[in-house]
Amino acid sequence: MNKKELEKRKIVYFTMEVGLDPKMSTYSGGLGILAGDTLKSCADLGVPLIAVTLLNEKGYFAQKLDEEGNQAETPIEWPKEEFLTLLPEKASVYIESREVKIQVWKYVIKGASGEIVPVYFLDTNLPENNEYDRTLTSFLYGGDQWYRFCQEIILGIGGLRAIEAIGYKNIEKYHMNEGHASLLAMELLERTKKDIETDIYKKYDLESVRNRCIFTTHTPVSAGHDRFPLDFVKRALRSDLPFKMPDMFIRDNEMNMTLIALNLSKYVNGVAKKHGEVTREMFPGYSIDSITNGIHLLTWAAPSFKKLYDKYIPGWQSDYFSLRYALGIPKDAIFQAHLEAKKELINYVNSRTGIGMDYDTFTMGFARRATAYKRADLLLSDINRLVEINDKAGRMQIVYAGKAHPKDGGGKELIKKIFSRIKELSPKIRIAYLENYDMIQGKLITGGVDLWLNNPLPPQEASGTSGMKACLNGVPNLSILDGWWIEGCIENVTGWAIGTSISLSTDGERSRTIGSIESQNTDSVQHARNLYQKLETIIIPMFYKEKDKWFEVMRHAIALNASFFNTQRMVQEYVLNAYL
Ligand SMILES: *Cc1c(COP(=O)(O)O)cnc(C)c1O
Repeated sequence: MNKKELEKRKIVYFTMEVGLDPKMSTYSGGLGILAGDTLKSCADLGVPLIAVTLLNEKGYFAQKLDEEGNQAETPIEWPKEEFLTLLPEKASVYIESREVKIQVWKYVIKGASGEIVPVYFLDTNLPENNEYDRTLTSFLYGGDQWYRFCQEIILGIGGLRAIEAIGYKNIEKYHMNEGHASLLAMELLERTKKDIETDIYKKYDLESVRNRCIFTTHTPVSAGHDRFPLDFVKRALRSDLPFKMPDMFIRDNEMNMTLIALNLSKYVNGVAKKHGEVTREMFPGYSIDSITNGIHLLTWAAPSFKKLYDKYIPGWQSDYFSLRYALGIPKDAIFQAHLEAKKELINYVNSRTGIGMDYDTFTMGFARRATAYKRADLLLSDINRLVEINDKAGRMQIVYAGKAHPKDGGGKELIKKIFSRIKELSPKIRIAYLENYDMIQGKLITGGVDLWLNNPLPPQEASGTSGMKACLNGVPNLSILDGWWIEGCIENVTGWAIGTSISLSTDGERSRTIGSIESQNTDSVQHARNLYQKLETIIIPMFYKEKDKWFEVMRHAIALNASFFNTQRMVQEYVLNAYL
């Protein structure tokens, strides 16, 4: 590779998953989409960064749903050669004293400025490796805990060696997107070892590692923080650093990936202001900042809105802030663009499900990972009430989508529950549950519905980004005040909040959330009541009877929110606060 190109790259971004193209099944959800959008904006802005991830050759999984909503999962074979180039350089790591060889595939993101960001995909599927090791880069979030630990060795340690093998010599900053890549920091620390007789903390240069590492944490849900049994460490790794410095690596007798990243990174951040606060409470004693997530606007704008902005806000593609001028776009033009996006969605839904949705009915969207705290069933929790609203306030139709993680039994039950409610409500209210939620559907649904709904149990949604995609396409949000929406919601101006009084108070909220099932149920009953009330008395009447006001909200969603909740603003914050 070109020497100048190799020399100029200063930052490397490590991520377990990345959503770059709908046909590359190397992502599962929000974390991967955010990584992809981040890298695209780095390319747009010319940030001298490279990225490392796993090949995830068989993807996350393809979802099939039967009549009752039972989920079946099949591997995905995505056409890697169409997107990636195999490099001649190889690297290797040791797992249980076996050498595991890694080959590297390269993907190139071309930015709006003409600059690029290379993304390196690590692949252990080589004849030199044993059968098991060959599968280590096959499945994203698949397999057992041991498989996951091996994957993290490949990502963290293998990733570092791979970029060095390729020839990058001037890397100054290592950004860990989640704790999956924490072993990278351990490897960097291992390399600072001095051959002197002294106490352990002087033998290793913690400061120099901290100065180079950046850690972004993405979830306040404790199951989202990787931990591994200590015998894995003994079994798999050559390094005994975790046992020499247990306070840096070990908590509750487990290797704790979040702890490692926290201890070995100088800059640590959560992904929304509230999430920063919650993370500081979870890990007292650490300095934790926040940088609110965003989306890559060019990726997520519906074709009709892209055209609209090209016409009214020339230059927006390289200057996302300029979407504030959406305030000057005529309402009728917004109406036409929305109608086009809505038709595209409705046609898609009808062709997939034969459900016969129409273009005029008020349409709500809810699409995200099916897991308990996201409460996909909240809207359908009182179907009599929903029918009453449908009959009195105005007709509605609803589009659902979302996969449950193969091991998330609760998430799978949730999908079945929704399927059974859909049957009960049919034919009065048309509700579709689309199979196999992915980037294509994400774009269609956030672009084409009239209202985007999000109602997780606070404060568990670190940020959320799908609501930002809705804003970009002029779709107002109705959401719990959690994650980014605490910052994005101006009641009746950019959208609406569910359960204001409950979610805005910070004290006691966490204990309530993590507390008893009963208190969660009480919260859910109150949230549902508030959700129904807002739909009935404010939102649906405004949609049908006060079109002018409705378009005002659409316009503000674009001007106030899409101009800010995007990865161009976000990457600039990372550059200023973390990279420089
Ligand atoms: C945007 C997007 C997400 C992120 O959704 P949130 O629920 O807002 O975190 C997940 N999956 C897909 C396919 C997406 O497009």
